[in-house]
Amino acid sequence: MRTPIVAGNWKMNLGRREALELGRAIAEGAPTQGVTAIVAPVALHLAALGEALASAPVLLASQNAHWAESGAYTGELAGPMLREVGVRYVILGHSERRQYFGESDEGVNRKTRAMLAQGLRPIVCFGESLEEREAGQTQAKVEFQVRAALAGVGAEDAKDVVLAYEPIWAIGTGKTASPEQAQEVHGFLRGVLEDLYDRATAQAMPILYGGSVKPSNFAELIGQPDIDGGLVGGASLKAESFLELCRIA
Ligand code: PGA
Repeated sequence: MRTPIVAGNWKMNLGRREALELGRAIAEGAPTQGVTAIVAPVALHLAALGEALASAPVLLASQNAHWAESGAYTGELAGPMLREVGVRYVILGHSERRQYFGESDEGVNRKTRAMLAQGLRPIVCFGESLEEREAGQTQAKVEFQVRAALAGVGAEDAKDVVLAYEPIWAIGTGKTASPEQAQEVHGFLRGVLEDLYDRATAQAMPILYGGSVKPSNFAELIGQPDIDGGLVGGASLKAESFLELCRIA
C-alpha cells in the first residue's frame, strides 16, 4: 500500500528564524512511521533546514528547480545543489508558478524528467480553474496536464513521481473540494495512470490532494481510496496543525 504523505508548502513565507523554529517543532513531533512528512521552505532556508532536520523524520522539498545540472541560468537552482543540502523532493508546476511565472506543461515535463535523472522525487501539481470546472472540463484538463508532465517518463521512474491534484479555486480560498469531488478526480487519474503504464505502477503512485486542507477536513479527504495525502499551504505554517495532519494521515 501507499504510505500517506503530508507535504507542507510554505510558499514565500517565514524568515530564517521562524522557518528554523517551525522546522524544529515539526521535527520533534512528527511521527516516525506510518506517514511521510515533508516541508518545503523558501530556497534560501533549505540548507539551514537540511542541517536542522538531518536526523528527523521530516524530509525536505524545494518549491522549484531548474532542469539543467549547472550553467548560465541566472537566478535558478539546480537539482544536484539541492540534493547536496538534503533536499529529496521538488514541487513542480504549482498553479502559482504556472500563473505568475509562465511555467508551462513542457517546462514541467522537462523538469520532471530532469529531477528523476538527478535522483530527486518530483511533486507534480495540476488542477482546473473554476471556469473549467463549471464548463465540465475538469477531467480533460487534469488528464492533459498529467499526461504532459509524464511524457517520456517510464514506468520504473514513474513510481518516484508524486502527483498533487490542486483545484485552483480551492487554493488559499478556504473552499475545499468535497471528499467526493476530490475522489472522483483521483479515481479518474488512477485510471489514466493505469492506461499510461500498468496497474501495479498506477497503484504505486501517490496522488495528493491540495487546496485549503486543514485538520478539520483532512480525515474525510484522506479516507477516500485514491487520496494518498495532502499538499498543504496555510495549515502547514503552524507546527500544531501540520502535526495534527500527520497524525490524521
Ligand atoms: P492552501 O495551499 O492549503 O493554502 O490552500 C495549498 C497549495 O497551494 O499547495
